[in-house]
Amino acid sequence: MAKKNVQKCSFCGRPANMSEVLIPSATENDTFICAECADQIHDLLASYRHDTSSGLTKTADNSMTMESVPTPREIKEFLDKYVVGQEAAKRFLSVAVYNHYKRLSQPADDDVDIEKSNVIMVGPTGTGKTLLAKTIARLLDVPFTIVDATVLTQAGYVGEDIESLLTRLLQVADYDVKKAERGIVFIDEIDKIARKGDNPSITRDVSGEGVQQGLLKLLEGSIVNVPPQGGRKHPEQRMIQVDTKNILFICGGAFDGIEKKIAQRLNTHAVGYATNAKNKRVDRENFLEYVAPQDLKSFGLIPEIIGRLPILTHLEPLDRAALRNVLTEPKNAIIRQYQKLFEMDGVKLTFEPEALDLIVDTAVKNKLGARGLRGIVEQVMMDSMFEIPKSKVKKLNVTRDYVAEKLSTAKIDTITE
Ligand code: ADP
Repeated sequence: MAKKNVQKCSFCGRPANMSEVLIPSATENDTFICAECADQIHDLLASYRHDTSSGLTKTADNSMTMESVPTPREIKEFLDKYVVGQEAAKRFLSVAVYNHYKRLSQPADDDVDIEKSNVIMVGPTGTGKTLLAKTIARLLDVPFTIVDATVLTQAGYVGEDIESLLTRLLQVADYDVKKAERGIVFIDEIDKIARKGDNPSITRDVSGEGVQQGLLKLLEGSIVNVPPQGGRKHPEQRMIQVDTKNILFICGGAFDGIEKKIAQRLNTHAVGYATNAKNKRVDRENFLEYVAPQDLKSFGLIPEIIGRLPILTHLEPLDRAALRNVLTEPKNAIIRQYQKLFEMDGVKLTFEPEALDLIVDTAVKNKLGARGLRGIVEQVMMDSMFEIPKSKVKKLNVTRDYVAEKLSTAKIDTITE
């Protein structure tokens, strides 16, 4: 055992009485590290991780190179593994994310300033907007967070301040402000902050136009004071300043009823057919394909916000074939997940194609969409998940009759979208 007076830091030689604390090695006798060296190593590691985790390599002038950034095609191929269909949205997102990296790698003194291209995705609920955003997050090495626009209200009212959108980003960036300043924020349910009436001055539109005005500041790039713990700001709270210039915002919303606005603009009816443009027959489902910035305006987004979301794309409603694919195709498809669960109990789980068809039919009939599929499969599998573990059963083949039987006793109306 070393005598107390010879204890010193094995890195810098600092004696025990000159350090806040000497931390002994877990395995070696007489080996210590002082608090000061530990602090230095911590900082060094943080900046090393900061440089490498972004997927971008820093050059001498502190800009970044694009060596390890996936191309739009690679980004889309990755999305294809997890998300069924939605070709348009995938392409737009892949390019937007790629360009985001390009912006980050641009030297500060470049005379052409690439402007940020925030994205807005319009599509019915349960068609994969959040899934797309989450899948992008899997691929990327920049901080990424999903926030909900419905919790926001105008400053001074009950609800959360707009700046709290960035709190989550700071949290996922471990409060590394520089890192957060290059992150991506997905704002869900952006349609919920649409202006309620055409005339903004009639009623106090606390959660509508006021919030949009607040959001504008964030989208266009400015320095904002972010409450580190989120929620509402209060005067004695210490704020963290975040520059949003390089933060990419991706917004998503169902925009229920926007088809009507699109139809009106196209000078046809929501239940009607021929568009005057190409005399092409369009059905109701196809209206979103034609979504344009002015439709967002008719819906109640202010023009300034629309201007700050220059990339507008749409998601298709999922038809029967798409829903069938959602069950089995994605890398972590619902059916695969259940097969995995059973496999962990040593049981081989298989589904007959007709059984899957009935599950899809049930979702379609009850208008449950993709989100309902999981609930239906859960109802179908519940009894066996209860009975099978540690029983003698080693395989289970789910037939159409099995599904019909389980669903006949299930309360389908308790499955919500
Ligand atoms: P929203 O468009 O409302 O954000 P989500 O992305 O949250 O919808 O979708 C809900 C669930 O439905 C997802 O977790 C996923 O299981 C399934 N889903 C929806 N759309 C797709 C899709 N295009 N491909 C694969 N799964 C999907």
